[in-house]
Amino acid sequence: MKIILLGAPGAGKGTQAEVICNRYNIPAISTGNIIREALKTGTEMGLKAKSYMESGALVPDEVVIGIIKERIVKDDCKDGFILDGFPRTIPQAEALDKMGIVIDKVVDIEVPDEKIINRMSGRRVCEKCGASYHLEYKKPKVEGICDACSGTLIQRKDDHPDTVKSRLDVYHSETEPLKDYYEKQGKLTVVEGQEEIEDTTRLLIEALEA
Ligand code: ADP
Ligand code: ZN
Repeated sequence: MKIILLGAPGAGKGTQAEVICNRYNIPAISTGNIIREALKTGTEMGLKAKSYMESGALVPDEVVIGIIKERIVKDDCKDGFILDGFPRTIPQAEALDKMGIVIDKVVDIEVPDEKIINRMSGRRVCEKCGASYHLEYKKPKVEGICDACSGTLIQRKDDHPDTVKSRLDVYHSETEPLKDYYEKQGKLTVVEGQEEIEDTTRLLIEALEA
């Protein structure tokens, strides 16, 4: 199954992608995580993406399209994959179509802007492995420490409130038109993001298995 998760930054795409990836045994591919990893190891791509990412802007289409092209030809993608955070613009979606990738389902997780802003301020990530937590909704077992690798939890630079506002603007202008794009292809299902992570997961699985 080839799945795309759409939704605003902080709508919970990453968390849900992890759940689905375990359930269907297909990899979750997050362009955000791949870019952050490249930034950390200081590759050329990471250097190119840094200023965009930190200011809350989108990284140029050709850079992320290149990342996806390289990633989906890997062996673990042969039975499908979940795209989390890609595509984020119409040209990115068109590039996927041009690659001949046939997407089965697109699920949009809807969360109102006010809630997004509130959620993002509580988001924390592991400095070492990138795992994601929330001060309220997804607490680590020990405060400030990653359950998976004992790394330190930090706030992403682009999760600071002023940057969140511009990321939401970018989402509405660049990414939201994708709902229409996939609606027209008959692939879109909208799921309302719930207060509890598990409740959203249930709706998401219903949408995928409908
Ligand atoms: P979130 O979904 O919480 O915004 P991500 O980790 O998906 O976080 O993305 C963080 C940043 O990485 C984005 O703000 C953007 O700068 C960059 N990025 C990730 N995916 C893409 C993409 N498909 N196109 C352009 N930029 C991207
Ligand atoms: Zn960790």
